[in-house]
Amino acid sequence: MVVIPTTGESATRRVRIDKVHSILSNRIKDNEEQFLVRWKGDPNTPPLSWHSISELVRCLELVQDYITVREESKAVSRKRKSPDLAFEHERRASPFDRRLGLTPSASRSPSISSLSAVPTPRTDIDVYNGVLDTDGNGFIFCRSAPGPNIATINIRSLPMEEMLRTARMSKIETANVLIRAEYVRRLGKVVGKRIHLVNVHDYTTPSLRFSYIPDYVLREGVYRADPATQEGCQKCKPDMGRSIGCEYTQKCGCLEYAAVDPVRLTPETKKQYEKALATGGSLLGFPKRFPYFTGDTKRQRTGTLVSFYLDSRHPIYECNDNCGCGPYCRNKNVQFGRQVGLEIFKTGSGRGWGLRCKEDLFMGQFVDTYRGEVITDAEATRREQAGGKLKASYLYSLDKHQESEGLAQADIYVVDGEFMGGPSKFMNHSCEPNCRQYTVSYNKHDTRIYDLAFFAIRDIPAGEELTFDYLDKEEADDEEDAPEGAVPCLCGTTKCRKWLWQ
Ligand SMILES: [Zn+2]
Ligand SMILES: [Zn+2]
Ligand SMILES: [Zn+2]
Repeated sequence: MVVIPTTGESATRRVRIDKVHSILSNRIKDNEEQFLVRWKGDPNTPPLSWHSISELVRCLELVQDYITVREESKAVSRKRKSPDLAFEHERRASPFDRRLGLTPSASRSPSISSLSAVPTPRTDIDVYNGVLDTDGNGFIFCRSAPGPNIATINIRSLPMEEMLRTARMSKIETANVLIRAEYVRRLGKVVGKRIHLVNVHDYTTPSLRFSYIPDYVLREGVYRADPATQEGCQKCKPDMGRSIGCEYTQKCGCLEYAAVDPVRLTPETKKQYEKALATGGSLLGFPKRFPYFTGDTKRQRTGTLVSFYLDSRHPIYECNDNCGCGPYCRNKNVQFGRQVGLEIFKTGSGRGWGLRCKEDLFMGQFVDTYRGEVITDAEATRREQAGGKLKASYLYSLDKHQESEGLAQADIYVVDGEFMGGPSKFMNHSCEPNCRQYTVSYNKHDTRIYDLAFFAIRDIPAGEELTFDYLDKEEADDEEDAPEGAVPCLCGTTKCRKWLWQ
């Protein structure tokens, strides 16, 4: 075996994640939490070696994968059988029976008897099927090296029952602390007010396989409209006077597709408007409903979404960088990003993780956008079929303009926020939600990519869980009996529809 220098660099030697296939087991040795690393290599006899958690700090995703499966299998075995029976089962299946002098009987399963060709593995061995080496950059790895002094083990015999038993009894506290710390470190890099992580129920941490991204990540076959099509309002200026901006001019080009404000129509323009509506003519030049409040009222605060938009599904058109109104236009809100501090927390009510706000939210206040990979409709179908029923809760079709623009289903893009996105990934469904998802566009000529933005639909006190209706249909479906295999809704509100989808 290659001897690793024990001075200096040994303290910082690390395992590189790209060389590792998976983690198979855990144990305590020399007072350290150790994990059995399966290295990439021969599928039958891959090199395997035990490493302390401090050597695995670059592989915490894999350690977390292993711990998650371990905890799930523990929960399943607790449900399925009594501890005594479980122990009996393990004893009978253990390859170590032979070492203990218990001869394999004819009644053993073929998989156990076929192991007799494999040298009996021992759990106190540190390296199997290879030797440890370093790559010169402080990284340690295990490479295949056949030879009489190399302990060999067939991957099909792993994890051995003895290993499983040791693993169940061995603490993984340090690993859990490091996984949590890594997650918090990544949260600290997310732009905007600090996002906190709270879990008073158990030692779990949300998956490290989720990446926080500041904007959509466009995947194959997905394109934004040419930036040249992003037209700004040209007749608006930043110096139109105090409180005078895009919200007062009837000429703001950005509001071209916004909803017409009937209150501001004169008898003359009302006639023109009715005619335009009847003939499908242009609505350019009519006074439009401005999306955000521009002054405090008793009911609502400056910058919050006005009730027309709050209560309708009309898209919100914000000004953009090409506008003449300048950076302080009141029609820029969502594009400045999240302004409130959020907290990801373990709900402890069977609904996994949830999201809440650290401060009071006002009705109409912008919370955050939904981010993710933007994929084609075909790719979304493929992912949905591969991902099972719960995958649907991460997929949002950008189909707002499908009908009005006559877009084919194949041309619709879909946002997948399961593995990449923002904290809003953790917002749970409720049949009686306190937030809703709105369409926000900065380029009225790009009908295929726009933002999905969450706004509070009522005042929400600090600490109340933020929820939205995953389905949010314009008209409620007639009550139906839950079809077989439907995903049950756990929102617990009085308006609960009992199930989400089939
Ligand atoms: Zn304007
Ligand atoms: Zn503007
Ligand atoms: Zn504008």
